[in-house]
Amino acid sequence: SPIPDYLQSVWDTCAQNVDGAVADYIPELADVDPDLFGICVATADGYLYEVGDTRTDFSIQSMSKPFTYALALAHRGIEEVGTKIDVEPSGDAFNNISLERATGRPSNAMINAGAITATSLIKDDGAESRFERIRAAYSKYAGRELAINNDIYESESQTGFRNRAIGYMLRTVGILEDDPDPVLEDYFRQCSISLDCRDVAIMAATLANGGVNPRTGDRLLSQPLLTHLLSVMTTCGMYDAAGDWVTSVGMPAKSGVSGGIMAVLPGQLGLAVYSPRLDQHGNSVRGVQACERLSRDLGMHFMRVS
Ligand code: GLN
Repeated sequence: SPIPDYLQSVWDTCAQNVDGAVADYIPELADVDPDLFGICVATADGYLYEVGDTRTDFSIQSMSKPFTYALALAHRGIEEVGTKIDVEPSGDAFNNISLERATGRPSNAMINAGAITATSLIKDDGAESRFERIRAAYSKYAGRELAINNDIYESESQTGFRNRAIGYMLRTVGILEDDPDPVLEDYFRQCSISLDCRDVAIMAATLANGGVNPRTGDRLLSQPLLTHLLSVMTTCGMYDAAGDWVTSVGMPAKSGVSGGIMAVLPGQLGLAVYSPRLDQHGNSVRGVQACERLSRDLGMHFMRVS
C-alpha cells in the first residue's frame, strides 16, 4: 500500500528538524531521548498505519484533558459542567493562573486550571476511586488497559507547585468545592498514564468514529458531548497556538508536554505524533510539522472547500 511509503517520507523530512527542547520542568520528562519520533494514523474503522517510534511508552500529559473532560460531561451534563468551566480559548499559556473575573471559572478544560476542575468533577462511586474511574475510561478509549508510570507521577507531584497554586486559587473562588490536594494528586496521576503512539491514535480514532472505539465496538461518548468536546479541542487544544494550528492544520487536537499530539478528522481518522522536543507553546515541534504536512498533502483541513 502507498500509505506506509508516504508516512515514511513525512517521517524522513520531519526527522531532520531538531528545533525545540524537551520539557524539563518535570524532572522525569527531561530524561527522555529527544530524537524519538513516531507517527501513527488510525482510520475510523480501526486500521493502523505507523512509522518510527510508535511503540515507545510516554506519559499522556495534557492529552488526558479531553478524556477527563468527556468523563465529567458524561457524569454531570454540559450545563452543570458549564457552571464550572467555560469554553473560551484563553490565548494564555497552558499553566496560566487565570480565572474569569466574575465567576472564577477557568476559560476552558484544555488548560491546567480547567483540567484540574474537570478532574474534581469526577467523584469516586464507592466501588472505584476517582483515579481508577479516569484510568478505566482512558483504557476504553485506547482499547487496552493503560497504567500509571509511577516515576513520572512522583516527579510531577514533587514539583507541581504551580498546579497546586492553581488548585488553591480554584478553591478560594469556590470552583473547587473540596480539599484541592487529593484532586491535584489525581490530576498528576492522570497526566502520568503511560501509553504509546498507537494508543493515542486509537483514542483519536474513537473520537473520529462518533465516540465508538473502532476496535472494541465500545460506545464511549454520545453525539452532543462529542461535538462539544471536539469544538473545545478545536479552539483551545493547542493552547496559545490554537489559531495557528487551526489555520495551518484544521483539525480538533490536543498536545501534551511529553511531546505527543493527537488530532481528529471527524468521520475519517485519528492521528498521533510523538516527538519530545517542544516549541515555545509546549507543542511538539516535529508533531506540528508532521500534522501540517499530512493535512496539506491529504487535504484533511476541516474547512477545506473543494
Ligand atoms: N502535567 C503537566 C502539567 O500539568 C501537563 C501539561 C501539559 O502537558 N501541557 O504541568
